[in-house]
Amino acid sequence: MLVSAKEMLTKAKAGKYAVGQFNINNLEWTKAILQTAEELKSPVILGVSEGAGKYMCGYTTIVGMVNGMINELGITVPVALHLDHGSYDGAKACIDAGFSSVMFDGSHYPIEENIQKTKELVAICNEKGLSLEAEVGAIGGEEDGVVGSGEVADPKECKMIADLGVTMLAAGIGNIHGKYPENWAGLSFDTLDAIQQLTGDMPLVLHGGTGIPADMIKKAISLGVSKINVNTECQLAFADATRKYIEAGKDLQGKGFDPRKLLADGTAAIKATVKEKMELFGSVNKA
Ligand SMILES: [Zn+2]
Repeated sequence: MLVSAKEMLTKAKAGKYAVGQFNINNLEWTKAILQTAEELKSPVILGVSEGAGKYMCGYTTIVGMVNGMINELGITVPVALHLDHGSYDGAKACIDAGFSSVMFDGSHYPIEENIQKTKELVAICNEKGLSLEAEVGAIGGEEDGVVGSGEVADPKECKMIADLGVTMLAAGIGNIHGKYPENWAGLSFDTLDAIQQLTGDMPLVLHGGTGIPADMIKKAISLGVSKINVNTECQLAFADATRKYIEAGKDLQGKGFDPRKLLADGTAAIKATVKEKMELFGSVNKA
């Protein structure tokens, strides 16, 4: 059964570790992440962007697939199904479809409008026992056509949004989506520290987890980050392993063209990436 992310993140914040949000794109992705979480006894958050939602034939299809897998694979660890960077309408659609968690990304609105819309969603999520993630200060890079310039959030605005009763808060601290450029300035730990000082127990979310050096991840966790989003890294690992399979001519040998074989190495690469991240984040054996 899907659960809200509230309890797993409250525990993570208190225990000084982070729970990974791994974005899903299809059945192989979902299965690889769920199996790895179960093997490592780690709580897990499955992320779905609106673009991936369309690709997978809509939110109800995804809810059906994930619930089916939890049942068929005998998954016992806590699993949250979470809308990533949702619009207001997207968040409502996911709530109706049976998601257990949503993110409303109102960071591109003026702060007053972000607050107003976040407030409305807080009321809906509280009533239904779902977790809600809000965002302050756009996170740079490109994700599903959403391009941000990479801002550093205003800690006072973070406090205003946190006080609305959201479950977790994403704040731009110099992090970006996708691959990090050579000249990246690194995370702003001063900003992160200031946000945590003002928001207290609120679990903080770090987007753009791909390519942030391990020591920066650990420092971010020590400063209150309890949810870290990973997307691009699984995509790169999958593509790399799949390319190697084809370049080695394995699809031309025997029944190597069978999709169950063709996608197997890429799926194994996703599992390896998820395992590495769960170990780094400290969520192993915390289910
Ligand atoms: Zn993000």
